[in-house]
Amino acid sequence: MNKYLQDLIKLSKYDQSISMFEPQIENEKAKLATFVETAEAIKTQINSIYLEIDDTKSKRTKNNIHLAELKTKLESISKKSNDVSTEKEMKALQLEEEIAKEQIDFANEEIERLDKLTEVKEEKLKELQASLTEEEESIKEIQIAVDNKIEEINKNRNTVYEDRSVLLEKMDGKILTFYEKIKRWAKDTAVVPVKKQSCYGCFMKINDKTYSEVIKSEEIVTCPHCGRILYKEEETQEA
Ligand SMILES: [Zn+2]
Repeated sequence: MNKYLQDLIKLSKYDQSISMFEPQIENEKAKLATFVETAEAIKTQINSIYLEIDDTKSKRTKNNIHLAELKTKLESISKKSNDVSTEKEMKALQLEEEIAKEQIDFANEEIERLDKLTEVKEEKLKELQASLTEEEESIKEIQIAVDNKIEEINKNRNTVYEDRSVLLEKMDGKILTFYEKIKRWAKDTAVVPVKKQSCYGCFMKINDKTYSEVIKSEEIVTCPHCGRILYKEEETQEA
């Protein structure tokens, strides 16, 4: 195979893998992000449960104050009943007493209802706190795995950069310029294999003459349709 073509294939493969490193790192970070998001969502739920519990407790307090007021009222009604002289007054007091008693019953029921509600919410709070702890432990584990993976990716990236710069030093300047020009628009597909007699960049079928030149690999051949550099992929490389 033409030596320049060999260099171009190598260079293009280095460039392709260099482009892949950043998405790989992003992918690793995204794994962690989903767990962090879940933890944040649980924290938000915990905060609103706290607020709801506070609200329920303050309602309970209000009912208790009201209850005390009603009891005082009952006591004063009972004192007044000793002093009434007419039946009309007596009936009015009795009515007042009945209303106060009903209100006491209602306040007691309300306190009971609020206590049950608080109990349910506190149970829910415990569950949420447990799942937050679980999530935070997962985050710790994943953080370690992600850090290791990113370190490994960075090591690989450095190796590829080194290999690439070694290759660049000995590469022909004109060939390199030629490659860079194609790369400007073709990005990572400046050098592409031919598969089933088709360019693997634009996927158009190439004519027999160009195809036989590609197979010979004596010259640098470009795709007649798109202008990318073509090469015949060896069996071993395909496997
Ligand atoms: Zn093409």
